[in-house]
Amino acid sequence: EAKALGRDGVILFNRALANRVERKLLIEQSLHLALKENNLEIYFQPQMDMNQQLVGCEVLSRWEDPEFGVICPNEFIPIAESTGVIIELGEYILDRSLKTFQEWLSKGVEIKQFSINISVRQLFYMGFVNKVDQLMQKYLDEKDRHKIVFEITESVLAEDITKVTKILSELKAIGISLSMDDFGTGYSSLNYLRTLNVDELKIDKTFIDHFNDSDTDQVMVTTIIAIAQNFGLKVVIEGVETQEQFDLLAIYDCFAYQGFYFSKPLSQKEFEKNYLTL
Ligand code: C2E
Ligand code: MG
Ligand code: MG
Ligand code: MG
Repeated sequence: EAKALGRDGVILFNRALANRVERKLLIEQSLHLALKENNLEIYFQPQMDMNQQLVGCEVLSRWEDPEFGVICPNEFIPIAESTGVIIELGEYILDRSLKTFQEWLSKGVEIKQFSINISVRQLFYMGFVNKVDQLMQKYLDEKDRHKIVFEITESVLAEDITKVTKILSELKAIGISLSMDDFGTGYSSLNYLRTLNVDELKIDKTFIDHFNDSDTDQVMVTTIIAIAQNFGLKVVIEGVETQEQFDLLAIYDCFAYQGFYFSKPLSQKEFEKNYLTL
């Protein structure tokens, strides 16, 4: 009987694996089409200050597939990166994002920043900086360009650091501000943030989850905030889910707080309705 079970186990395992591989393949094949058929959407999540006033937003992509339903970026971005579609996809998102921001500015919206996630592979793609420069010039006045923030993750630090430094400084030179996303989960030290000339750091949600009842996390978070603020870096707290978390963190007067406590990422229409007066 144990044998039979074991065999079933194997069969089940193989089936689950096959489904996973199949789904990955399907996603891989459909991504191009999704781009062509405009099934990729940009959503916006508000960033609030300690007084719960809107200071900015983060663009988060969504794939609304007629067959698969809504697919989250944690699933399709890694696939897009491994196949290289991320270049085309990233350019599309960047274009859409800057265009939308330009529309808001022209209607008098006064948010301080507009953040876009950029993957490592995109960053290293030849001609990326030129492309960004073209789009910045196409859509934004010089005075508004510093409001564009590129969120990069600590995984850039696993790459050739000379090359990373060069690309990031080129982006800074055309007016882009830089944010270190998911800070604390990976390789970075505060020292790197200075070498890379980063403007902002986003403290990862994992440190916020247990902020209320973990002394270690409290020390960790408040220390990071203090050092970052002393270096003149903006601090954004990610993954604020409860009033209690917000109340405890608001006293540190971080540049922004972001999370489901305020709002989940919203479609453009919803975001405009709830947060902007156009
Ligand atoms: P991220 O940049 O760290 O974005 C934060 C993620 O946490 C988002 O997930 C957001 O919806 C979610 N989140 C925000 N507040 C809360 C909260 O209070 N509780 C919980 N449980 N989650 C919260 P999302 O949209 O699924 O994106 C996942 C990741 O995919 C992003 O992490 C980012 O690394 C990547 N990503 C998203 N859009 C893009 C894109 O256009 N380009 C690139 N390269 N990456 C993207
Ligand atoms: Mg981000
Ligand atoms: Mg993050
Ligand atoms: Mg993340």
